[in-house]
Amino acid sequence: MKLLEDRIRKDGKVLGGDVLKVDSFLNHQIDVPFLCELGKEFHRLFDGEGVNKILTVEASGIGIACVTAQYFHCPVVFAKKSKTSNLSGDMLSAEVHSYTHGVTNHVLVSGAYLSSSDHILILDDFLANGCALEGLLAICRQAGATVVGCGTVIEKQYQGGGDRIRARGIRVESLAKVASMKAGEIQFS
Ligand code: 5GP
Repeated sequence: MKLLEDRIRKDGKVLGGDVLKVDSFLNHQIDVPFLCELGKEFHRLFDGEGVNKILTVEASGIGIACVTAQYFHCPVVFAKKSKTSNLSGDMLSAEVHSYTHGVTNHVLVSGAYLSSSDHILILDDFLANGCALEGLLAICRQAGATVVGCGTVIEKQYQGGGDRIRARGIRVESLAKVASMKAGEIQFS
């Protein structure tokens, strides 16, 4: 998506450890009208697939998930990284290694909010090694829900997570695919 590639070139900063920082518009400060354009694109890609729920993981997936949900007219469920006192009843869970924090989180979704009748679109801000999407796919499997596909705003394609998931027959759409990056230079696929 050219609009997104241009914005990444303009505002993105490549940090050490293969991290692309886009927190001036995507996942810290949020440019809502800009994210609406991304949400419309996810809607165009997955329209007609019967999506009735969007699943993401806290915290940085929540912004794009909520904006996109407006176009699907559906709720957002986000996996929580800690068990809070208001989480009760049956739980769906998975281990997710955090790429940016370097820790493994036991992420949780209340069984009340995902069921076998759901058609889920999984969304996240970034796709690197694929751990976050794998965890969310595992949670959907536990619920018996149908996964329509996965969408990510930025896929660092050279890290291989997206292609490993695609190889299993799961649809993965990313709005910008980074082929390589180093300070001051980002190449898109
Ligand atoms: P994965 O689980 O695919 O290895 O990494 C995806 C998760 O790690 C995303 O939820 C995202 O929050 C974080 N992440 C991975 N790579 C980057 C990056 O280059 N920049 C930022 N800001 N987050 C990233």
